[in-house]
Amino acid sequence: MARVVMPAMPVIPGMARWDAPPTAAAVMAAEVTDTMETRWDGLLVNARLVTLAGDAGYGVVEDAALGWRDGRFVFAGRQDALLAAPDALASEVLDAQGDWVTPGLVDCHTHVVFAGDRAGEFEQRLQGASYEDIARAGGGIVSTVRATRAASEDALLAASLPRARALRDDGVTTLEIKSGYGLDFDNERKMLRVARRLGELLGITVRTTFLGAHALPPEYAGRADDYIDAVCGWLPDLQAEGLVDAVDAFCERIGFSAAQTQRVFEAARALGIPVKLHADQLSDGGGAALVAGFDGLSADHVEYTSDAGVAAMARAGSVAVLLPGAFHVLRETTLPPLDAFRAHGVPMAVATDCNPGTSPLQSLRLAMSLACTHFRLTPEEALRGATVHAARALGLADRGRLAEGLRADFIRWRIGQPAQLAYWLGGDLVSAVHVGGRAVDTR
Ligand SMILES: [Zn+2]
Repeated sequence: MARVVMPAMPVIPGMARWDAPPTAAAVMAAEVTDTMETRWDGLLVNARLVTLAGDAGYGVVEDAALGWRDGRFVFAGRQDALLAAPDALASEVLDAQGDWVTPGLVDCHTHVVFAGDRAGEFEQRLQGASYEDIARAGGGIVSTVRATRAASEDALLAASLPRARALRDDGVTTLEIKSGYGLDFDNERKMLRVARRLGELLGITVRTTFLGAHALPPEYAGRADDYIDAVCGWLPDLQAEGLVDAVDAFCERIGFSAAQTQRVFEAARALGIPVKLHADQLSDGGGAALVAGFDGLSADHVEYTSDAGVAAMARAGSVAVLLPGAFHVLRETTLPPLDAFRAHGVPMAVATDCNPGTSPLQSLRLAMSLACTHFRLTPEEALRGATVHAARALGLADRGRLAEGLRADFIRWRIGQPAQLAYWLGGDLVSAVHVGGRAVDTR
């Protein structure tokens, strides 16, 4: 059960409990609090909370209320612990009508900013071509690079907005977005600027990740080391513009080598920027241990990560970001080492990896469902993976649970029990999205 937090207002002797008929004292309290700086901005009553308090379990609080002020929770607990009538406590009182309420979802790994699409490759793969075959034949990431370079910043924004909006409208209030389809300074910068603009347009938090080392652009064919030099050289200017919250790379046979990845990470470390990695997706390249060696935020994909890699992640406190959308679309069969992650206490996040090639997935809830079906996560693990563990994978300690002091990002759901969040494939379950307490206009 969640800790009961006392509201920040004076207790007036003789004041009635909120559910009793208003008394003169309650009216007086309302008048007093009206003029006080400490009055809450909002209060949600008649809610059923999934607080995710503690390290396990949903942390359910029934007959609950949520209060917030200045964008942060000031109360998350049983409604009968409120010390005054809702109207006396808060400027705005909302009735959840029994809705379940969770923290806002956090999608900690996406590539939602891109132009074009790769539905043609989807058809090729269904006819037997592998992801690696397509990449080696000039398709794959490089084809999205061509389309993304050709798009103006506004066109790229217009193409990306519906995808980011779909994620938000299905419960995502914090969204990580990577570059990596520009692969030159101007186009990487354009992608990161579009990512920032998406956050402003949608009223959610966007964390930007520079993924210059995503693929080798055609003009650098045969000169991967020169390209890595260029990537490292762009980083200070992009950071100076406030466009880089983290640095990522694609360490894989069809991506960059461990030595090249290390050079990118060293450039990031010199600037104090945290790192993460597309690691061990198609083969064990030692990526998880490499990123852990830089105290990385996360190692992502991690299907082929070895025991030594898992142990290194545990020591570094790196999060394992599971991306079941790509696993599903590529019809992979090698599971991430889930038991080893559990045994070593490595937190597991779940993300959409929304991208045009391997994971055209526009719902984090659907990613949660795929994580349960393919990876055998429990629905509770999937929800923690899409909230508190995902926030940690972004280096954010101020969100992901319903608790006093955290950001008032929360979702009201039309569901009968929390496991339904991972149970339904699709559907429209959101009844309201709140960011910093404020209700966002969805759809
Ligand atoms: Zn990715």
